[in-house]
Amino acid sequence: MAKTLLRNVRIFDGSTPQLSPSRSILLDGGTIQAILPTDAVDAVDTIIDLDGRTLIPGLIDAHFHAYASDFDFVKLEKLPPTYLAQRGRHLMEDALKRGFTTVRDVGGGDYGLWRALEEGWIIGPRLFYCGRAFSQSGGHGDIRAPHEDDALCGCAGKGILAERVDGADAIRKAAREALRKGAHHLKIFVSGGIASPSDPIWMLQFSEEEIAAVVDEARRRRVYVAAHAYTPETIVRAVRLGVRTIEHGNLIDRETAAAMADAGAFLVPTLVTYDAFRRSGVQEGAPQHLLDKLDDVSTQGVVAIRHCRAAGVKIGFGTDLLGPLHRHQRDEFRLRHEGGENAFEILHSATAVNAEILGMEGLLGAIAPGAYADFLVIDGDPLSDLSLLYEDSQAIHSVWKAGEKIA
Ligand code: ZN
Ligand code: ZN
Repeated sequence: MAKTLLRNVRIFDGSTPQLSPSRSILLDGGTIQAILPTDAVDAVDTIIDLDGRTLIPGLIDAHFHAYASDFDFVKLEKLPPTYLAQRGRHLMEDALKRGFTTVRDVGGGDYGLWRALEEGWIIGPRLFYCGRAFSQSGGHGDIRAPHEDDALCGCAGKGILAERVDGADAIRKAAREALRKGAHHLKIFVSGGIASPSDPIWMLQFSEEEIAAVVDEARRRRVYVAAHAYTPETIVRAVRLGVRTIEHGNLIDRETAAAMADAGAFLVPTLVTYDAFRRSGVQEGAPQHLLDKLDDVSTQGVVAIRHCRAAGVKIGFGTDLLGPLHRHQRDEFRLRHEGGENAFEILHSATAVNAEILGMEGLLGAIAPGAYADFLVIDGDPLSDLSLLYEDSQAIHSVWKAGEKIA
């Protein structure tokens, strides 16, 4: 393997609240072999001087949809899969160039996309996928209008981002099929949502029996269940039944945060998706039912995070952007910071905590011997000025994945 020495760089390792003094990092192919004093010499193929810049772990987006190339889910379902695959390829490539070297897809992303990335046919972040998310009929993943039966397709409710599943036996079967296809986690909708036409936010989706069945299937395969949920009632029930990550969680109150901490569940907030809709959803042609539902949850997201911080809930970092709004991906940093979290807390969420969600502690979201050589080089210190990572910042000097400079 080619060895590279990156000299004269200060490090944020994903978990320590301060930058290291100036160091050198020795890369052996796609992994970090050692962290050395800055004047260390080693027999290497390439030496690169980083001129005192900062190096941080590659960012991880724990709530991503590679196939969400449109925010109108009805329109999305009518597009051919070959077209969606090409659009997905570009969404992935753009995410990588923004500094996200890993994404967790929570609805849509699948084996085919993963394999094309792994084999190097396309470039993009490392992908952790679940295939289609599971929705009950009339739930968040059911995109039929009230007057439609199976009008969209005859394939038993299988869609692009989600599939309809009803009954404990049916969800077990769907889980087993997803796991057979290599799913890294399973995703269910347990409350209503924004981008769906007929379910109120407060709705308790799936029966307890159905949630328990999917959790059981995941656990026996040593993976876990992620659940889309907004309201306290839906979240408390989900974590009691063994759901491990709560997606969005905007309406979490003090008691709900305590229940999540007790259960060891993670919160994955996605503040930017609401903000991006507010800023550009109208111009971009977002459907009105979606904009109407937005106000129900958007302002509460930062309050939910505060309750979770106070209760000791582990908080990850996600975006949940759809269609043209993907370009706002890095603005999640701004919204979290404006919501009151400090730069370290947010960077920790987007690196080490997200790596823990993925079961990749020490390998991703970390700058340490043995970790994958996925990192960003930044002009300046993001621990003292997080705006270096905001949407419009030009401070990202370079993006590296598996020891190679991508952008
Ligand atoms: Zn969701
Ligand atoms: Zn989502």
